[in-house]
Amino acid sequence: MLEELDAPLAPLTTLRLGGPARRLVTAHTDDEVVAAVRAADTAGEPLLVLGGGSNLVIGDAGFPGTVLRIATTGFALDGTVLELAAGEVWADAVARAVGAGLAGIEFLAGIPGSAGATPVQNVGAYGQEVAQTITEVVAYDRRADEVVTLSNAECAFSYRHSRFKADPERYVVLRVRFGLEDAAGLSTPVRYAEVAKHFGVVQDERVDLRAAHGAVLGLRAGKGMVLDPADHDTWSAGSFFTNPVLGPEQYAAFLALAAERELTAPAYPAPDGHTKTSAAWLIDRAGFGRGYGSGPATLSTKHTLALTNRGAATTEDLLALAREIRDGVRTAFGVELVNEPVMVGVSL
Ligand SMILES: Cc1cc2nc3c(=O)[nH]c(=O)nc-3n(C[C@H](O)[C@H](O)[C@H](O)COP(=O)(O)OP(=O)(O)OC[C@H]3O[C@@H](n4cnc5c(N)ncnc54)[C@H](O)[C@@H]3O)c2cc1C
Repeated sequence: MLEELDAPLAPLTTLRLGGPARRLVTAHTDDEVVAAVRAADTAGEPLLVLGGGSNLVIGDAGFPGTVLRIATTGFALDGTVLELAAGEVWADAVARAVGAGLAGIEFLAGIPGSAGATPVQNVGAYGQEVAQTITEVVAYDRRADEVVTLSNAECAFSYRHSRFKADPERYVVLRVRFGLEDAAGLSTPVRYAEVAKHFGVVQDERVDLRAAHGAVLGLRAGKGMVLDPADHDTWSAGSFFTNPVLGPEQYAAFLALAAERELTAPAYPAPDGHTKTSAAWLIDRAGFGRGYGSGPATLSTKHTLALTNRGAATTEDLLALAREIRDGVRTAFGVELVNEPVMVGVSL
């Protein structure tokens, strides 16, 4: 187990932002992960679990405790069951599963970060989310001080949310198991209009598995959603705001405000009579177009939903931009945007 004191965290995040960790521990085995968590908990030391740092906004003051970097490895296929160690690089694991001819996570290609973080916010894109294929999550339960196996239902997945996100102090994910599908070289049914259009198929048709993986990588790269150190549009935490899910009354009020501006908002049915609309649409129509901002933190020039560090930003610069956008959308449309990345030592 590697241990460093006063260790810079910015280089370990895709935003390249945040002050140092009082102590940074890197664990390469499940036993090391559990031992490090136990030691921090016993000492009453604050703990931050770090994967690929692609969904974190760390304050400029850094983290006054132990940051545990998960660097475990393990990719095991047994028929259509895939087990990944938490530290595996997600995008590489997706490519390997596709290479093995298995469908179920091909539309989640190119998403940065670790396998262990995917259940935390129920990672999703292009009509797939990990909740559709995760069968079990093996985690260290800090409250019970034991390693537990949670079923899919026990993970309580919903849109960009889970039991792990709801109770962040409790579980450290060690392994994730997926039930994939051998569809004879085909993908799972296409659920996303942009992908269907790309392939010239109707929704729910299947397409070639490898082509699906390649197409998503291409679509993502065009939006700056695949990491590229030379491209500041990818110095982000991905989508900064989740798509708002509105109750019937809130939705009616929103429609009225949109109608005043002679705008028709995107609307997608969500569970329990709710309606999901598009955060990117709201941001753009509230006056924050691609590339908005004149400081060291701006919107991506390729995607209105990504807040980016142009190289010299601080976390406070990024948060100032995020607050300006959140407030502008509230004023224009009465909708409160909620941040998707996890805030460490700061809030919007
Ligand atoms: C360019 C870009 C594009 C993106 N596109 C998408 C997208 O299409 N869809 C999407 O859903 N997300 C997307 N994201 C967000 C991000 O990639 C995912 O949320 C990813 O799963 C985060 O993984 P990570 O290992 O980097 O987590 P980190 O950023 O290191 O951590 C995120 C949170 O998870 C916790 N965590 C990490 N590992 C564990 C573990 N083993 N056990 C318990 N808790 C843990 C951390 O404590 C923290 O609270 C994108 C990000 C970027 C930068």
